[in-house]
Amino acid sequence: MNFELNENQKMITQMVRDFAEKEIKPNMKKWDDEEIFPIETMKKMGELGLLGIYLPEEYGGSGFSYLEYSTALMELGKVCGGIGLSVAAHNSLCTGHIYYHGNEEQKKKYLPKLASGEFIGAWGLTEPNTGSDAMRMKTVAKKDGNHWVINGAKNWITHGLSGDVAVVLVRTGDLLDSNGITAFIIEKGTPGFSAVKIGDKFGVRASETAELIFDNVRVHESQVIGEVGQGFKQAMQILDGGRISIAALSCGVARGAYESAVKYSKEREQFGQPISNFQAIAFKLADMATEVEAAELLTFQAADLKNRKQNLTKQGAFAKYFASEVAVKCGNEAMQIMGGYGYTKEYPAEKFLRDARLMTIGEGTSEIQKVVISREILK
Ligand SMILES: Cc1cc2nc3c(=O)[nH]c(=O)nc-3n(C[C@H](O)[C@H](O)[C@H](O)COP(=O)(O)OP(=O)(O)OC[C@H]3O[C@@H](n4cnc5c(N)ncnc54)[C@H](O)[C@@H]3O)c2cc1C
Repeated sequence: MNFELNENQKMITQMVRDFAEKEIKPNMKKWDDEEIFPIETMKKMGELGLLGIYLPEEYGGSGFSYLEYSTALMELGKVCGGIGLSVAAHNSLCTGHIYYHGNEEQKKKYLPKLASGEFIGAWGLTEPNTGSDAMRMKTVAKKDGNHWVINGAKNWITHGLSGDVAVVLVRTGDLLDSNGITAFIIEKGTPGFSAVKIGDKFGVRASETAELIFDNVRVHESQVIGEVGQGFKQAMQILDGGRISIAALSCGVARGAYESAVKYSKEREQFGQPISNFQAIAFKLADMATEVEAAELLTFQAADLKNRKQNLTKQGAFAKYFASEVAVKCGNEAMQIMGGYGYTKEYPAEKFLRDARLMTIGEGTSEIQKVVISREILK
């Protein structure tokens, strides 16, 4: 075991840090206040290779592994959880689904565009009435010659409005049949396919979220990913990988909150001394430092399993559950350490806390991670 960052991880850390300093930090308050999804910034990240980071070079990707991918998300999370979420959803969900389950023609058609940022990708599993219980989805596709006709709606879809292409999970069989769901690739502009932005989010406000509506959307059978009926199994595998990305992002948010709290506690004086001198504050920092480090180790462990094509259902859930809860705790403690100032938008703690709150909900809530973990350990 080697716990050092590899050379590529070090290079990516510096690259993302430089990019964030120049392109994200100066604008993120405006994006957060006004709920702007900065699509041009996303495209610039495509130019840097961050939108196809683990794709092989033959598909226009950067050819890195999940270790480098996790590192990039950790760095983004330290700056803006919203931008990090968009990069995670684009890479792990839409791009990942086509890469891991698509045929060669689909990969050649979509992956280079997704990797370069020419296309922004969305992925739709959740519906207005089915989140954790995705198997009961109501969006249906009926076969009509060599086309499928899709009707229904998907909710909470990252880049649902601005995305150029979406992978969507749709019922093609009976309710509750795990072989009754199919994944389709749908391009923006397909007649009957529309989206409505969901506004007023608590956090990750720079990441666009939307409802997708399907009104007799005709999709050619060549847009089916893998076999008809295999979509649910594919989605569960995609979520295993996706959990690594949310874990990594959570580590970044947690570390960002922790570092801002350390800085503040050394500068802020009360009773004639820096508040970091008070054990009550120093112990909070000690807890945060320990838990961030543990979250990073769990995340890299899951990333390593993914790289080695091992089953990572349990370790991915460990990482996602633990890291996301640590992110919320660190955001909360950073706010406490900053006192009244921490309660304002002038100081970073409140944004870290708001962004962190999504991490325990998206791509499977903490409760669902515990369902997954307990199922695995009690097998
Ligand atoms: C900003 C944002 C971006 C998102 N992006 C996407 C995306 O790109 N694509 C996509 O498909 N989805 C996306 N989602 C949806 C997200 O994955 C769901 O919100 C999440 O899976 C939870 O589903 P739900 O909101 O319907 O909550 P519910 O499933 O209704 O859960 C409500 C509560 O009940 C608990 N609960 C449910 N079932 C159980 C159980 N069996 N045992 C114990 N507790 C349980 C949950 O833990 C939760 O606390 C996004 C959501 C947000 C907020």
